[in-house]
Amino acid sequence: MQTITDTKKLTSKYTCEYCNKSYSKESTLIAHMCEPKRRWLQKDEKRVTIGFYAFQRFYILSAGNKKEKTYGEFVKSSFYNAFVKFGSFVNNVRPLYPDKYIDYVVTSNVKLDHWCREEMYEKYANELIRKEGVQTALERSIDTMVNWQKKIIVCTIIILNMQVQIELLGILETVKYLHGWY
Ligand SMILES: [Zn+2]
Repeated sequence: MQTITDTKKLTSKYTCEYCNKSYSKESTLIAHMCEPKRRWLQKDEKRVTIGFYAFQRFYILSAGNKKEKTYGEFVKSSFYNAFVKFGSFVNNVRPLYPDKYIDYVVTSNVKLDHWCREEMYEKYANELIRKEGVQTALERSIDTMVNWQKKIIVCTIIILNMQVQIELLGILETVKYLHGWY
């Protein structure tokens, strides 16, 4: 006698490659969302790439792993959410020398849940400024200023472009009016 599960297996042709759940309709499979699928789909998001990088650095620097962890291992890790949260924090705070900051945090012996605390970054920044030579600090300040200048120039171009477009629209409206197109 066929059980309900057997019948389901026979009619379920579409299987999710991430969680192995099967569906009889392809559209249901496409619409289906599960945690592993979501993690794979957001692989290229900035906070995820930073979190993954920190995850790899943690296992190399603190756990002494020789081999780099793969993204597949990251997806399956119970620390995935905590590392992604840290990735968001780094992406928002934009620390000085992000690579150095990540190495500082992963080797700090501080609990993962506390990595997103502002005090952690303040401590790092203070230590860095104290160690950093005057020349490097000066170069960094100049770099920051140049970057800001670049951003301001880009914004100005965008605004000017919008103004030109608005003026052109105004001229077009006047031309239409003068030609009696209204
Ligand atoms: Zn799935």
